[in-house]
Amino acid sequence: MISPEREMTGSVIPEKILEVIRTTDNFVVMTHVQPDGDAVGSLLAMSDMLEHMGKRVFAFIDEPISHLYDFMPGCSRLNSNVDEMRHFIAESGADICAIALDCGEADRVGRNQEMLLSVSPFLVIDHHLSHLNFGDYRWVEPQCSSTGEMIYEIAEALDQTPSYNGAFALYVAICTDTGSFRYECTTARTFAIAGKLVDLGVKPNHVAGLIYDNFSPERLQLMQMVLATLELCEDGQVACIHVTREMFDTSGALVQDVEGFIEYPRSIRSVKVAVFIKETRNDMVSVSLRAKGECNVSEIAKQFGGGGHRNASGCKFPATEIDLVRRQILPAIRDAIAGSTAQKNVN
Ligand code: 5GP
Repeated sequence: MISPEREMTGSVIPEKILEVIRTTDNFVVMTHVQPDGDAVGSLLAMSDMLEHMGKRVFAFIDEPISHLYDFMPGCSRLNSNVDEMRHFIAESGADICAIALDCGEADRVGRNQEMLLSVSPFLVIDHHLSHLNFGDYRWVEPQCSSTGEMIYEIAEALDQTPSYNGAFALYVAICTDTGSFRYECTTARTFAIAGKLVDLGVKPNHVAGLIYDNFSPERLQLMQMVLATLELCEDGQVACIHVTREMFDTSGALVQDVEGFIEYPRSIRSVKVAVFIKETRNDMVSVSLRAKGECNVSEIAKQFGGGGHRNASGCKFPATEIDLVRRQILPAIRDAIAGSTAQKNVN
């Protein structure tokens, strides 16, 4: 049965997706590169549910899980071994299905895209506004707060009650992707689902402690350096911060430790768009964008080959100077803010 809240948003799980899940015995489940809380939580919860339905599951992760999420029960079962996955696919024969979670486009599944996409049928479950269709059957619902929320809906549609570990993983997924139930995407249904997960034994204070009060001193040292780079422009409407490789080396923090830093420039009253430029790898510079209000940063990221949500998006540039990236991206942000302000005035 569709919940009344979900019925109001018009979001319905395609029957074909439910049918494939019911009738297939072997699954390769995957998520996006540089997996965040929603990606890891969704992957664990979906794998857990399928196993409770008596299925065999290969839960593939492109890279080792970030230390920020290694508290999640069951994360040791996530497997990056491509040879083992190849073997799993071969021995499953025709009775196999792949599921990509939280991936807005095929490239986001990572380096083993060719092997992963060769599995058929290929199901896609995602909530990105900028979603570019791929796979055989898709449920793409940008109105859902998180892919975790969508997996809860699938569990309900299949009459499956999440186990404690599944509920825990879904709670982490929803909590992190809604910025602790603060972002625009948080609906009555999000709270209803979170309530059901709490009924299943999840303790919000325990999870919050593991997500938000569990950092290394090195992360705080890096944060000091990064916040010192803060620059406001466009009359305070845009705030930029950046991180360099040198800052990582000096602080001893890890690449994943920058998660959440962008919340600080975003928190400034006058700011409409926050930008975080990151030298996280030698071969590229990545950019995170966050918006408050009308500006759609997914459209800005798309102009540079990236994507994401209306209020949170990202894109990548080949390795270059941070200042050059800033100079490319700022005019696009300026135009987007001007466009959204003009649109607001018309309305
Ligand atoms: P973050 O800034 O946390 O890395 O990403 C914010 C959102 O933008 C996430 O939903 C993420 O999936 C999306 N995103 C980040 N980088 C890219 C990218 O290079 N390409 C696409 N398509 N989406 C991205």
